[in-house]
Amino acid sequence: LNEADLIGTIERLLPAAPPDVLAGIGDDAAVVRIGDRLVLLSTDMLVEGVDFDRSTITARDLGYRAIAVNLSDIAAMGGSPRYCLVALGMPRDPDPAWFVELVSGMVEAAREHAVAIVGGDLSRAETVVLSVTATGESVPGGVVLRSGAKPGDRLVVTGRLGAAAGGLRLLAAGPREAARARSAGWGRDLLDAQCRPAARVAEGQVLARAGATAMIDVSDGLARDLGRVCAASAVGAIVRLDRLPLAPGLQDLLRLTGDDPLDLALHGGEDLELLATLPAAAVEPAAATLAERFGTPLTDIGEMRADPDARIVATSQDGAERPLAPAGWDHFGT
Ligand SMILES: [Mg+2]
Repeated sequence: LNEADLIGTIERLLPAAPPDVLAGIGDDAAVVRIGDRLVLLSTDMLVEGVDFDRSTITARDLGYRAIAVNLSDIAAMGGSPRYCLVALGMPRDPDPAWFVELVSGMVEAAREHAVAIVGGDLSRAETVVLSVTATGESVPGGVVLRSGAKPGDRLVVTGRLGAAAGGLRLLAAGPREAARARSAGWGRDLLDAQCRPAARVAEGQVLARAGATAMIDVSDGLARDLGRVCAASAVGAIVRLDRLPLAPGLQDLLRLTGDDPLDLALHGGEDLELLATLPAAAVEPAAATLAERFGTPLTDIGEMRADPDARIVATSQDGAERPLAPAGWDHFGT
């Protein structure tokens, strides 16, 4: 059973959602109506040994990342995050200094986005387990689901791809290599993307207002996450590989570890960049706004096209089309 199979089982066993649930399982966040407001709900868990390694991430960065990955899911709906609940499992006798740093990192990420941490739960666990639940509100422009992409829409992505996966490979290369790459400059962006990723909250709202028809945050790799948009929207996509905005440090990483930049960009996860579909006329104004206000690049990397089988095709410089397999991070895959 892979992750998708397990989610499918849960969906089949759940009773039909009540009418005030506008979007349930299967998007970055659920959308529910409470009174006259649309509320976004999302949760995400980080498990030691699976999602992070305590020997390579500081407690402060871990706390920051735990909040950021949740705010990113609210961002992917075009929403405004408001509150977080934090559930934390830890082995017996945690180091007090480590714990203070962990909470400080959470506070830092929450403060950056004016989010309040309003409660949670503590328990004992074999390893560190950090689960955060975030709520958000929809903003003018409305909620952007994964399911609204139309044939002819352009496919755009914020920022650069592959940095977080590159940071992970750099950490795996060893502490000396990582430290050397950081001081040489090129490693810093990769390590920060892995340990201290930025949630594209303001960017998500701009894209929603610009008329984004679908949106997702790239948490499991471009290929897999684009596959989710295609499946939810029942459209295909063509991705121009020569246009992918590769993180600059990846060329240096290639020389050190042999990791292919394109492979990291397509299949590496955790970049927390936003992948959106937009009507063609909306791309340039949205890109200009993001560049002016936040200095965030927005790159047109392809087009959605009619295909009821929701296939993704990649083209490289030679123009040849190849199917792009939705490989990427799967918690239960091999
Ligand atoms: Mg997501």
